[in-house]
Amino acid sequence: MKTVGILGGGQLGWMTILEGRKLGYRFLVLDESPDAPASRVADRWFPPEQVEDFCREADVITYEFEHIDEEVLSRLGGEVRPSLEVLELKRSRIREKTFLSRRGYPVCRFREADRETLEEALEEIGYPAVVKSESLGYDGKGQYRIASPADLEDLKGAAGERFLVEEFVPFTSEISAVGVRSRSGEIKVYPVTENVHEGGILLYNYVSSRREVERAVVSIVSELMEELSLVGLLAVEFFLTEEEDLLINEFAPRPHNTGHYTLDGTYTSQFENLLRVVTDLPPGSTKLKLSAGMVNILGLSLEDIDLREVLSVEGARLYWYGKKKRPRRKMGHVNVVATDRRELTGKMGRILDLLYRKEFTLR
Ligand code: AMP
Repeated sequence: MKTVGILGGGQLGWMTILEGRKLGYRFLVLDESPDAPASRVADRWFPPEQVEDFCREADVITYEFEHIDEEVLSRLGGEVRPSLEVLELKRSRIREKTFLSRRGYPVCRFREADRETLEEALEEIGYPAVVKSESLGYDGKGQYRIASPADLEDLKGAAGERFLVEEFVPFTSEISAVGVRSRSGEIKVYPVTENVHEGGILLYNYVSSRREVERAVVSIVSELMEELSLVGLLAVEFFLTEEEDLLINEFAPRPHNTGHYTLDGTYTSQFENLLRVVTDLPPGSTKLKLSAGMVNILGLSLEDIDLREVLSVEGARLYWYGKKKRPRRKMGHVNVVATDRRELTGKMGRILDLLYRKEFTLR
């Protein structure tokens, strides 16, 4: 029986384990908390101090989160997939953007800066701009929109010492795709989704019907996976500009929130495919079964939700991570499938209205 070790105990690990049960695998989770979603469903939980024991017991190690403690990383042994080199690239927003730009991938204009050079970098990039802390940023955390020099004050309390300064991209939409690559180099890319964020956090997404954009995205994601010799998943987020140009915002070498719809919308979920390729099995079909989308449940408890109504929407399925409620925290999500896009939009609108009790006009 294969034993898979997962670094990180969040919901991505939780869904990986639930999907992996079908494959008959054993799971170990390394996380600070035995109550984290993945820790609770693992066969065995390890605190960070026991990283060596965790590595010894695992046949292969993967990760569901990139901001792994330096100390843990330095003590890691065994087979890690995707590789630690890929992880290192992702741990710094500056390294990630510089790599993409040097290799000729489309990215927005950016500068790196420290506290002393921040103002100068902002002058070079121009206003409005987006300043991002080098590391530990996700879901809009460690990110500051700077409209004019007057906003520089806001950066006084910014986390970290080094920053990525980006031009503000007036995108028309945000697009992403998750790809999977096996050790033998077989690549499959999931259908592209259009993603709608609120305050830097994904609120909902659905499979796109823009074929031309899809072709360009699939080609970039495949090329990037090949270039990184990646074994596992790679999620790539893009901005689509008014001129229909694609710019990469960021990538993540792990399951991704924009790929949650694959649990119901495609033949093989992103989680199952991660497990297949890290254990040397061929990736399963990434093809779409039905029109599909997902709505995130942010900052709500189960008691706040009229589950009876939400689950009365045909094709809606709830995934509840069992975390402690905090404002805007990702608490769970609802996947929705439908026979066509119009039906999907109607169902997703209904779910959004039910969850957040306000009218949404789906983009
Ligand atoms: P990130 O933390 O980089 O994933 O950014 C979170 C969200 O902030 C993105 O999904 C965008 O909606 C927005 N964002 C990030 N960078 C930029 C940028 N350079 N221009 C405009 N919006 C941005």
